[in-house]
Amino acid sequence: MQSISNRQLFLSHVAQTSPAPIGLEIVRAEGCYQYDAAGRRWLDLISGFSVCNIGHGHLRVVDAVKKQAEAYMHLIVYGEFIETPQVAYAQLLAEHLPPSLNTVYFTNSGAEATEGAMKLAKRATNRSKIIAFNKSYHGSTQGALSLMGDEYWRNAFRPLLPDVHHFDYGTEAVLGAIDDTTACVILETVQAESGINKPPAGWLQAIRQKCTQHGVLMILDEIQAGFGRTGTLWAFGQYNVVPDVLLLGKALGGGMPLGAFIASNKLMSLLTHNPVLGHITTFGGHPVSCAAGKAALEVLLEGGYIANVNNKEQLIVKHLQHHAIQQIRTAGLWASLRFANAETNQQVVHACVKAGLITDWFLFAPDCLRFAPPLIITDEEMIHACETIVGVVEEVCGNV
Ligand code: PLP
Repeated sequence: MQSISNRQLFLSHVAQTSPAPIGLEIVRAEGCYQYDAAGRRWLDLISGFSVCNIGHGHLRVVDAVKKQAEAYMHLIVYGEFIETPQVAYAQLLAEHLPPSLNTVYFTNSGAEATEGAMKLAKRATNRSKIIAFNKSYHGSTQGALSLMGDEYWRNAFRPLLPDVHHFDYGTEAVLGAIDDTTACVILETVQAESGINKPPAGWLQAIRQKCTQHGVLMILDEIQAGFGRTGTLWAFGQYNVVPDVLLLGKALGGGMPLGAFIASNKLMSLLTHNPVLGHITTFGGHPVSCAAGKAALEVLLEGGYIANVNNKEQLIVKHLQHHAIQQIRTAGLWASLRFANAETNQQVVHACVKAGLITDWFLFAPDCLRFAPPLIITDEEMIHACETIVGVVEEVCGNV
């Protein structure tokens, strides 16, 4: 009997969301590299979508996972027992955040953090109007999907949340819409899936001012932008604003599933009454995830990796030069390379995989290649990656 390949089993039994999955079969990952069974390695240039900011398999993280798994895993639903890994991680996060962001609600995912934050905004303001932005992504559950900044992805799942209003990111029009009927404005500090879009100078501050004036919660999503990706631990520090609620995920768990919405203790305490148990989760803040996340954050901070992000950003700009790359947008160690069209980008992405580099495209910018390596990447690895990409682009685009 002919044996069925793992690829066939993957396609038959694991639900697919894309007609063309990358389909690598990795057996081990360490540092900036992922390895297949034959020992072939790929340099990870997307960090599992900004999750593995300290690379793969860091021993301190693995050790924290093992120790916590041995001590205990699930005990009881969220918020009932004092679980030391949650307490210790929440405390560490609070130490590195402004004083008004001192209370952490741990969730399982980024989308669930978005959901919790929207509920908190409705509960705090008793209003329903939510302002979001075109080309934004905050998760795939129905509330978060209602915020998603493109009708193509929303349409098949309507009806979604009512009273959600979308504006173009970085434009003045939104300011007039923030009023006494608005519960929250939710946006990414730096837009990720539009192909790295930084806010214009003063824009976030203008939103902050309007929100304060009208009692509206400003919710910043740093699920991709956080944990040093943009050159500071939190991106909002570069724009002189402090949100009422901060959303974290991805790198938060150090490779384990974890999300969080973070606010003041006063605001968060609204979830304790009217109704009691205002947000419930069984596994949110799983002790193993919190232990892993805390260890990963300690490694990130102690390793001084964030201080080198801006130098590495300069390497991207210097070494990723080719006439077929029409634009490079960067925010720290996070870049988007624009090609003539989505087909060219797809060809480049696939040729990169063949050349030993893992890259991808952006949800709202299929013509742009994603470059977001672990922050631990060395200058030599960076230069190698950039030169390989340029070689691939030359091969795919030639003199076109
Ligand atoms: N917000 C942003 C900016 C994201 O990039 C993502 C995921 O890609 C999410 C929210 C949702 O996070 P999750 O996939 O953990 O639900």
